[in-house]
Amino acid sequence: MGKKGKAIIVGGSIAGVSCAHTLTLAGWDVLVLEKSSEPPARSPTGAGLGLDPQARQIIKSWLPHPHLLDEITLPLSIDQTTDSEKKVTRVLTRDENFDFRAAYWSDIHALLYNALPQTMFLWGHKFLSFTDSQDESSVKVKTLVIETQETVEIQGDLLVAADGCLSSIRKTFLPNLKLRYSGYCAWRGVYDFSGIENSETVRGIKKEYQDLGKCLYFDLGTQTHSVFYELINKKLNWIWYVNQPEPELKSNSVTLKVSEEMMKKMHEEADTIWIPELARLMKETNDPFLNVIYDCEPLERIFWGNVVLVGDAAHPTTPHGLRSTNMSVLDAEVLGKCLEKCGRENLSLGLEEYQRIRLHVVSEQVLYARRLGRIKQGLDSSGGLGLEQKHMPFFASAPLV
Ligand SMILES: Cc1cc2nc3c(=O)[nH]c(=O)nc-3n(C[C@H](O)[C@H](O)[C@H](O)COP(=O)(O)OP(=O)(O)OC[C@H]3O[C@@H](n4cnc5c(N)ncnc54)[C@H](O)[C@@H]3O)c2cc1C
Repeated sequence: MGKKGKAIIVGGSIAGVSCAHTLTLAGWDVLVLEKSSEPPARSPTGAGLGLDPQARQIIKSWLPHPHLLDEITLPLSIDQTTDSEKKVTRVLTRDENFDFRAAYWSDIHALLYNALPQTMFLWGHKFLSFTDSQDESSVKVKTLVIETQETVEIQGDLLVAADGCLSSIRKTFLPNLKLRYSGYCAWRGVYDFSGIENSETVRGIKKEYQDLGKCLYFDLGTQTHSVFYELINKKLNWIWYVNQPEPELKSNSVTLKVSEEMMKKMHEEADTIWIPELARLMKETNDPFLNVIYDCEPLERIFWGNVVLVGDAAHPTTPHGLRSTNMSVLDAEVLGKCLEKCGRENLSLGLEEYQRIRLHVVSEQVLYARRLGRIKQGLDSSGGLGLEQKHMPFFASAPLV
């Protein structure tokens, strides 16, 4: 057997840890460079996400104790919309077999990360640049060790860009590519009700949202909507989309710093839009945060030589189809299987096959999520699109290798 190939993955979030699993399974040596100084256990920036059956099955195949995934997720077998103005509620899906589940971002990250050798990860390492060898058979990556401010060079055979929607690796190939501001930002929060299960707030919210623990609630207002569901360990996850001009990003992050004044304004507006129980929950949530929502026109390619994009770096998307994490998991699975099938000596064939399988799927999903968001935010009245999660193209049935 030939020498193992070495993959350098930039980004240690969901797409990066997922690729660390699949490339290891495909017989590669893996090194992950992540600029954050340590693993994001219970990071306050994390909130809820939805996992479809296909992504869950794949994640389980990577884990030594697959049942742990079921233990940290709750079902979302009901999909329900309420028009707050017309006071009309529609159950879009009520199906015990509608196998969609809610998870807390940091629980999923921890589950995936803890199943890998920790020596694979270099935390506090910021990717700076890379150079390809002339025949594109190897790649040299320059990284900054943040603590010592030392620059280190690392050589590998494959560079995997899992560095998120603002990917600097993507920028080297597509310097003119601009993200598309959706027209709105999202307030997000996780309300922890452990120890206060019988408080007036929790009793009120459970009375209004009786299927919490198994339902994905969408409340529609005038040119706005919110999403609400329960997570394990007594947490309630809410997201509220607000149309507004594009804010200026001050750091390399789509999460904005929130001032007292912004929070006060959000609380006041919540009172005028949402039912009192939901507005109260929003006001009592600690540390809500604000995400600026972007996506991007589908790319024409997602690999160049021995550099490949995965996750949000490959397909920045709006969150309305609850796709980002599912897409990252599927990208990783398909990439690993393609590389395993074609072998290290046929790397470009493997990458071509990855692109062929994934690019059209993620492109359709990004555009579908965009339309869902525009309809729910009152920015598109052309209609003709069902609001059900399960109508997302390739929902639970994306092609694998
Ligand atoms: C802390 C955190 C919390 C999140 N919480 C949620 C959530 O609650 N719900 C949800 O739906 N989505 C959440 N997301 C986003 C979600 O992970 C992604 O939308 C999706 O899963 C795709 O993941 P990704 O790995 O492609 O991108 P991202 O999750 O954006 O990860 C990109 C990673 O690359 C790292 N990185 C970027 N540039 C460099 C560089 N130059 N050098 C080294 N590392 C670099 C970043 O620090 C980050 O860890 C969160 C992301 C992060 C980082």
